[in-house]
Amino acid sequence: MTDLSLGPGAGRFAPSPTGSLHPGTLVAALGSYLLARQAGLRWLLRIDDLDQPRVVTGAADEILRLLDLAGLHWDGTPLWQSRRGTRYAEALQQLKRDQLVYPCSCSRKDVLASAPHAGEDAPVYAGLCRARAARGSRLAWRLRVDQQVIQFRDQVFGEQVQSLADQVGDFVVMRADGVFAYQLATVVDDLDSGVTQVVRGADLLSSTPRQIYLYQCLGKNAPDYAHLPLLLSADGQKFSKRHCLPSLVHEQNLTPMLLLALQVLGQNPPAELSTAPPLRVMNWALSEFDPLKIPSASRVMPR
Ligand code: GLU
Repeated sequence: MTDLSLGPGAGRFAPSPTGSLHPGTLVAALGSYLLARQAGLRWLLRIDDLDQPRVVTGAADEILRLLDLAGLHWDGTPLWQSRRGTRYAEALQQLKRDQLVYPCSCSRKDVLASAPHAGEDAPVYAGLCRARAARGSRLAWRLRVDQQVIQFRDQVFGEQVQSLADQVGDFVVMRADGVFAYQLATVVDDLDSGVTQVVRGADLLSSTPRQIYLYQCLGKNAPDYAHLPLLLSADGQKFSKRHCLPSLVHEQNLTPMLLLALQVLGQNPPAELSTAPPLRVMNWALSEFDPLKIPSASRVMPR
């Protein structure tokens, strides 16, 4: 049921169900929950299960169960990206109609070989298919970027500036295998759900200008952004499937994991909470959370 005391906007948390809940993912869940509640917003959940080969059966349900047990109660029904193909296709159709996208037959090798220089998180696309009519049955669709520099203010990382043309190039909105790219899907979902506040891990900070540009191309306003510090595994890497069970979040370690997540978010929960049930930790967090204390620096998981 919608809580009428909450404002019209919303925050959200969008886990990828590719494995168990990592402590780093819990940081994003908790940070987005606390920032949304503090701003009087609804907090929505979305399951990013577009990349089906990477989806682990049962992972989404387990993440939802743990969030619920931790007291991170979401509003409404979670949205599953795998069920939203029609809406992504409509958005792509709009971009086609406005001649903002073009088909691309380049392989990874072509992209790499022609890249003028390294990019934000992949080689910059040189625009090989921009001016040629790519043919074939397996074509990707790329969004044409212009020379404008994207600027925005992140609540944690401050002023951000990125030139899409120099640092990214025309980017894929639908892959050659027919899967819609995360960049397009997340924008369409956030628009359709009325999301006004996007809070997530700092690993996505460099994707944000692409998303802001997509909002512009679709004729819409972008939400506010806050990117959160990353919690790295003890070996200094992002958490992944190789990390063993004791370092993952489960029913028995919710309290210490919530306390760790609060520390990563720059908060200072009192020591006596270490023996409290998760819901008491959450009550403390809801009343004491100070967004101004969120640092931008990543933390390494204590051993
Ligand atoms: N599903 C993405 C992840 O787990 C997050 C997407 C987002 O918050 O925009 O990294």
